[in-house]
Amino acid sequence: MAKKRILSGMRPTGKLHLGNYVGALENWINLQDQYESYHLVADYHVLTTDLSTDEIYNNTIEMVIDWLSAGLDPEKAPMFRQSKIKEHTELFLLFSMLITKARLERNPTLKEQVRDLNIENLTYGHLGYPVLQAVDILLYKGEVVPVGEDQLPHIEITREIARRFNQQYSPDYPVFPEPEGKITQFARLPGLDGKRMSKSLGNTIFLSDAPEIVTQKLRKAVTDPLKVRKNDPGRPEICLVFTYHQKFNSSETKEIENGCRSGLLGCVECKLKCASKINELLSPILEIRRGYENNLNKVIDVLIQGESVARKVAETTMNEVHAKMKLG
Ligand code: SF4
Repeated sequence: MAKKRILSGMRPTGKLHLGNYVGALENWINLQDQYESYHLVADYHVLTTDLSTDEIYNNTIEMVIDWLSAGLDPEKAPMFRQSKIKEHTELFLLFSMLITKARLERNPTLKEQVRDLNIENLTYGHLGYPVLQAVDILLYKGEVVPVGEDQLPHIEITREIARRFNQQYSPDYPVFPEPEGKITQFARLPGLDGKRMSKSLGNTIFLSDAPEIVTQKLRKAVTDPLKVRKNDPGRPEICLVFTYHQKFNSSETKEIENGCRSGLLGCVECKLKCASKINELLSPILEIRRGYENNLNKVIDVLIQGESVARKVAETTMNEVHAKMKLG
């Protein structure tokens, strides 16, 4: 049986942190054998919230190095830049005819962004970014999209656009699949201060952090404020270090929980254990990263090859779209 196709992407924001790894990358790596996977560097999407393009190239390279170092295999999963496949812009234009402004204004993620980023003058491109996301998926006929729960409204818009196109131009045979969102289990890993892990908040652990940096950062992580001395009983359920243990040290979770509650385990020791588990995960990634940093041409080759594969798929889809729409 043919493998289903997965399409997923990230904005090029530079070096990735553990939140990016847990929320997406780890899942992509686990799924690459099960599905036919395509991974997109969403560089056009950067422009929806930041017009400066100075860092896009470097950020792309850093991010792709992390993808490769963590275990994404370009032979199984082509990686490519959105801006290198011109069909994205063409299909974006066509899809933008299939959805109303009112529907896009109802997008809850957009409302959240407008509020959080204090956006007064929303651009046409920003309003339409779910349409561009629909293109990113449907141009490659993605059937499955790994997402966090907050991204599900976008998948719904993609499904609506696919349905609308099929009804309008190809009622007998659907050109586009209606993709399904595949929820990532551990979608949000808190940052070292307990808030969402984010570069702008300075609360991250990067995949490229050296072991001593990870340990240093963990030492400063917030814990249960009522556990002041080692022997004070703690509440692991409100402690982010415990959340990290659940994710990176699952075999010892019970022991840590008991030690924390009884006061036998102190926060310093608990944090050191946690740092050591995270370093076990990151050390091999860091080593592979160093190889790529010394051979950037290899990273660029991965992108060029991925783009050649992606372009063929995109051209085939657009030929089909043109034929169905009777456009020349
Ligand atoms: S002992 Fe560990 S789990 Fe308990 S409060 Fe301290 S850091 Fe958190």
